Amino acid sequence: MHTDILIVGGGLSGLALADRLARQGRDWLLTEARDRLGGRILSPDIAGAHFDLGPAWFWPGQPQIEQMLRRFDIDVFEQFSQGATVFQNGSGAVQTYHGFSSMAGSMRVAGGMGALIGALEQVLPSERVMLRSAVSGIKKTSEGVCIEAGSLSINANHVVLAVPPRVVAEAISFEPGLPEEAHKSMETIPTWMAGQAKILAVYERPYWREAGLSGDGMSQRGPMVEIHDASPMETGPYALFGFVGVPPGVRAEHPERVLELAQEQLIAMFGEGMRNPVHLQMLDWAKEKETAVPQDLNSQRSHPSYGLPPSLSRLWDGKVLLGSTETAPVHGGFLEGALEAAERVENVLLDAALEKTPRAS
Ligand SMILES: Cc1cc2nc3c(=O)[nH]c(=O)nc-3n(C[C@H](O)[C@H](O)[C@H](O)COP(=O)(O)OP(=O)(O)OC[C@H]3O[C@@H](n4cnc5c(N)ncnc54)[C@H](O)[C@@H]3O)c2cc1C
Repeated sequence: MHTDILIVGGGLSGLALADRLARQGRDWLLTEARDRLGGRILSPDIAGAHFDLGPAWFWPGQPQIEQMLRRFDIDVFEQFSQGATVFQNGSGAVQTYHGFSSMAGSMRVAGGMGALIGALEQVLPSERVMLRSAVSGIKKTSEGVCIEAGSLSINANHVVLAVPPRVVAEAISFEPGLPEEAHKSMETIPTWMAGQAKILAVYERPYWREAGLSGDGMSQRGPMVEIHDASPMETGPYALFGFVGVPPGVRAEHPERVLELAQEQLIAMFGEGMRNPVHLQMLDWAKEKETAVPQDLNSQRSHPSYGLPPSLSRLWDGKVLLGSTETAPVHGGFLEGALEAAERVENVLLDAALEKTPRAS
């Protein structure tokens, strides 16, 4: 199999790049390790509505994601934030506060962030996208690169790794090996939110809203440390989600206990109505090998500064390019950063194509 550009990774950055290349009429293929597209974006249908188990928000001042949502005619709405916020202290005591909502003004997507992935999937030719094809090795050849993906062997002029750099360092071998400095750089770039887990609790009715609460909650007791309304744009079912504060090793060993405690926490913070969710689940991203590596288990306390370090900018004379959100200097880590990365890689590939074109004399 041969292609001009092989994109590795079908998250937002890889799909957005595929979309850009398709619109230019370029030759590309995309391999994805999982049996689904979207990467960290995951919005399954639960009881008739889509709920975000990965990213839920984008923010004003992020132009590319706004533009893409407009292009696909996907509705957006503001994070629900009317009503009081609930605080729970370390001993479990609960207080409510009015006039404060930590995520007010954040924007959500009708049908969940997965709507964006679905829209991109619709416009991309399916025969160019290969699921269940994890790339394990890349060899330099006289023409370009040869990529091993499952049982496939694909020759390409360029390979774009739209995969978190740490996952590249952990899962993909290079022959000849990459310079030591490049390998070290990849290992030190944290994958945004990779060490996190989200708990989702779905209800027939929005009991918290009926009690004058926004669904926002902060807790020093846990297991959820930060809780928000995760309901769909208009109708039910309704939901709350929470980021889990229990360390990855502990929650991996006792997932059922974490869910039981989360259920008790919801009742303590938002009232008796929370007793019988129609659905309660935890998605632990730290356990997903396509997203997290062991270093990600020490979760980030603040947003790292991202961008492509010089040691990773021209690997194998530009035949190997990195392109996940972690390579974006302005909005790195965020969905907007994934789109920023796709734009940068498209420009690099365009320059490479122009360099190859013979000049008219
Ligand atoms: C819980 C959580 C909450 C978040 N909340 C927000 C938010 O509210 N707003 C926001 O802007 N951002 C948020 N983020 C970050 C956001 O999800 C990312 O910025 C974005 O999804 C990154 O897209 P990407 O394509 O660069 O990487 P990814 O989505 O990680 O895509 C990489 C792809 O590569 C694939 N892959 C990995 N290894 C291989 C291999 N060897 N071969 C082939 N394919 C491979 C993976 O399966 C995946 O599909 C959140 C993330 C998480 C986990």
